[in-house]
Amino acid sequence: MKTYTEGAKAVFKFSYTSSYMGTPDGNCHGVKHSTIEEWAKEALWRSDIPPSYCKVEKEWYENKIVIIIDCDILYRKCQDPREFAMHYSKMLQQVAIEHWINMIVQVTYQIHGTYRLGWGGGTGGSTGEHKPKPSDGPYVDNYASGVTPKNAIPEECDSLPYSNKAKSAMKEMLDSLFSLKPYKGAKYNYIDFSQYKKIIKEHGNIEHASAIEVYDDNRHYMVEPEKGGLSDRAKYHYGPYTKYIIHNHPNFTPPSAKDLLNLCLAAANPECTNICGSIVFIDENTYYALIINDRNKAAAMFKEIENEVDDTTNDFKLDGKCSKVLELYKENLNFKSSHDIAIARLSTIINHFNGGISIVKCHITDKSDYTTYGSEKISYKPIKC
Ligand SMILES: [Zn+2]
Repeated sequence: MKTYTEGAKAVFKFSYTSSYMGTPDGNCHGVKHSTIEEWAKEALWRSDIPPSYCKVEKEWYENKIVIIIDCDILYRKCQDPREFAMHYSKMLQQVAIEHWINMIVQVTYQIHGTYRLGWGGGTGGSTGEHKPKPSDGPYVDNYASGVTPKNAIPEECDSLPYSNKAKSAMKEMLDSLFSLKPYKGAKYNYIDFSQYKKIIKEHGNIEHASAIEVYDDNRHYMVEPEKGGLSDRAKYHYGPYTKYIIHNHPNFTPPSAKDLLNLCLAAANPECTNICGSIVFIDENTYYALIINDRNKAAAMFKEIENEVDDTTNDFKLDGKCSKVLELYKENLNFKSSHDIAIARLSTIINHFNGGISIVKCHITDKSDYTTYGSEKISYKPIKC
């Protein structure tokens, strides 16, 4: 039997196009993404999986619904994720056709974490049983148009000046993280990394943030994150001794606009002279970091983006100046992977405000590999190195 790890999650990504099938009435019919999200939840009910057990998300700039289900819950309903993907696609199409919308659905799925059945990932497509012919004339699908997604962010090392510095800063952070020791302090309880991971495992769908502090003895200490009563986001303390902050992303996403804002806020705080970045914990082997290369620039960016982040979505406000910048470069921000899009957007904003912050990803394998992300000064083309 294969090893079994609790907390394994199945991530299904459904790309769709939709077209109106109803009687022509002279109006142009499109489907809002929020409507599709509602339908996605309805289709979960019909598949006998309560939506409250899942995360249903939209992906930025793409007609995509992402559904994250605990493998344990999925396994109770269906023992083959591929079969579930196909079944669910049909359910989604069924809901849509009841509203006179024909959906064409493409699905890819991946299992994060080890699961006892050794589930992997795969792709599938479904054009629907209803087989209506694509409508033309005035009933143009608002979502089917748009630019074709590119594959991935191109690699261009020479253009990222801080790349090596940021990578080694992240390596230092991770090394310190893995060598933490628990300690009972007067004011705080300090934990090691295995205890942090245990907390995350026990409260998997909540973000837990914690500060890593360096005191006069030059050792690293991790402040135990606040537990209990947390709705969605953990509060955390930081101060003059804080070296960096770590928090987890239950939905495996890269650092958010909110994470960037929080780090800029810390950089702008005259008390926090030792802060050098923040880590996002994805899983045992995957970490992102925002690294401060230039504290003054990061502090100056805080003033620029202070009121730009939406507290509900943790993303840039739709009507703010950051959105205007992103709109300007949206051709550059079109990738197949939603994570690439998220990273490219963040680096575009950092570039625009000359924020002095690098985005680094570390994937730990036999030989850990570090990738820095940024964008070209002139064209704002996203690049990695
Ligand atoms: Zn975050």
